[in-house]
Amino acid sequence: MEEYIKQALEIVKAQAGVRNMTEEEITSMVKSLADQLKGLVEGEQSEVSREEQKPAVDPKKAIREKSIICLECGKAFKVLTKKHLKTHGLTPQEYKEKWGYKKKQSLIAKSLARERRKKMREMKLWTKRKLGS
Ligand SMILES: [Zn+2]
Repeated sequence: MEEYIKQALEIVKAQAGVRNMTEEEITSMVKSLADQLKGLVEGEQSEVSREEQKPAVDPKKAIREKSIICLECGKAFKVLTKKHLKTHGLTPQEYKEKWGYKKKQSLIAKSLARERRKKMREMKLWTKRKLGS
C-alpha cells in the first residue's frame, strides 16, 4: 500500500476513535486525506528535482549591462522574450518565480532597461508639458 494511504488511514482511525463516524464518512475522509498527502509527497518531489536543476549562470549575475542570460539554456539575449521562455515551457512569471527574481524584474539587459526608463521619463515629462500648456 502507498505510504500516504497508510498515513491517511492512521489519521482517520484516530478520528473515528474519538467520534462516531459512518462508513461513508470514513471512506471519504480517507480519500480526501490520501489525496492531500499524495499532493504533499509529489510536491516535495518536484521541489527536489527543481533544486537539482542548476541555472546556466548565477541568477544574480544573469542580467548584465548589454545582455541577459537565459538560465534555462545559457544563451545571451538583449530581451528574454515570452516566446523564448515558451520553448522551455515557462511563462515569464514562472521563470521569475523559478529563479527567484522579483515579480517586477524586467527580463532585459541593464542598459536597455535604463534606456526604457529614460524614455518613460521623457514621455511623462512630455505629457506633463502637454497637459500644462
Ligand atoms: Zn533559453
